[in-house]
Amino acid sequence: MKNYYSFKDIQGDLCRGEITCQKLVQGYLDNISKHSKLNAFVEVYKEESIKRAKEIDSKIIQKKSGKLAGLVIGIKDNICYKNHECSAASKILKGFKSPYSATVIKRVLAEDAIILGRLNCDEFAMGSSNENSIYGPTRNPINIDFVPGGSSGASASAVKANLCQIALGSDTGGSIRQPSAFCGTIGLKPTYGLVSRHGLIAYASSFDQIGPIAKSIYDIKLIMNIISGQDEFDSTCSAKDFASQKTLTRKKRKFAVLKEAIEFKGINPGIKNEFTKMVDSLRLEGHQISYISLPLLEYLVPCYYILTTAEASSNLSRYDGVKYGYQHNDGLISTTRSKGFGKEVKRRILLGTYVLSEGYYEDFYIKAQKIRRLVQKQTNKILSKHDYILLPTTPNLPFKIGDKNISPVQRYYEDVFTVHANLSGHPALSFPLGEVEGGFRASAQIIGNFFSEKDILNTTENVI
Ligand code: GLN
Repeated sequence: MKNYYSFKDIQGDLCRGEITCQKLVQGYLDNISKHSKLNAFVEVYKEESIKRAKEIDSKIIQKKSGKLAGLVIGIKDNICYKNHECSAASKILKGFKSPYSATVIKRVLAEDAIILGRLNCDEFAMGSSNENSIYGPTRNPINIDFVPGGSSGASASAVKANLCQIALGSDTGGSIRQPSAFCGTIGLKPTYGLVSRHGLIAYASSFDQIGPIAKSIYDIKLIMNIISGQDEFDSTCSAKDFASQKTLTRKKRKFAVLKEAIEFKGINPGIKNEFTKMVDSLRLEGHQISYISLPLLEYLVPCYYILTTAEASSNLSRYDGVKYGYQHNDGLISTTRSKGFGKEVKRRILLGTYVLSEGYYEDFYIKAQKIRRLVQKQTNKILSKHDYILLPTTPNLPFKIGDKNISPVQRYYEDVFTVHANLSGHPALSFPLGEVEGGFRASAQIIGNFFSEKDILNTTENVI
């Protein structure tokens, strides 16, 4: 099977009868077994996908098919799909079958997409390497000794290795964008509230957003048209949708480059170089480039980890072994939780409980909330004078699987460029730049005003 860059090419081939959905599904299934070392899919819905492909093929012949007919999707193992297992890569949810589908799942199915299976991730979406999983680590298709990033590491790995055309992941602090950077794919974290979170297993509810990982901007736009928009099951979901978004008509754009990001102490020189090259070529093409400062950059990571662990400690209190998934045979909630959760999840529950406890609440939680508001204010201010903010997606390239030389806190600091958009709620797209080393590429992020995804995507496609 061809490695289709964009779903547009698949649509063309389907239309001309050069391929069928059945052949497509078979092609991806073959790729999954060929690349089983990647450990990307933790469950493949083989028979079901083949059956669905047949049905959609006949719908195509009858010209009754939906907008996503022939689109084969992988879903992160934290997005619920009715009557299918969903475990958030955790022992505590092993065996849990969801009684309902997430809104995004219902919407893509209604447009005839084919869901091929569920994809590995870090447990409860906590991590940057996809190593914290009961299913074992996922590998990076560019070099299998390296991590694919996290927590939606398998989503990016699967798209890059052509195991599916597009993947749905979730981004709380960079989990769509950082794996996209590590695997050379494109990933969008939508504006908070553009996509319903109904059916997404919660990590930190005021940060979480579902979004796509793909090889082309075309694919991202296509799926955003379908998954975005108001949902009665999620009260934080906005009435605004992707389809009705306006885009800039002015040819020359105003980019704000984050000074602190390019001057960041730990940044890989190759990444800095590729990023600077991109900025220089934008300037040469006549776009306005200003170097602006976000003095709060050094507080972003601590602020993110205080707030997300606080929310996680509350969200994860529902796993008591009574309602869903695993229960230890002594029937005790404490044993179920201590045996069911992995190390990183426990670390975060402890940290979150600590920052919410009496005496520390004002010093940590409240202070972090204030910083969050300041970050949002400063970002809005920058975006009132500029069209977009540009910064690298990650300061470093992927690291080797099992690298023990990186402490958990050092790993947290790898999120320094991605947590910004989740703290402020703005949309952010990560896209690949040139190669830096060993096939690994640098990536940049473009952050825009709230609900400006369509414009961000057009600008990345046509201007950058
Ligand atoms: N690496 C970040 C964390 O561990 C991001 C996670 C995410 O976006 N889900 O919290």
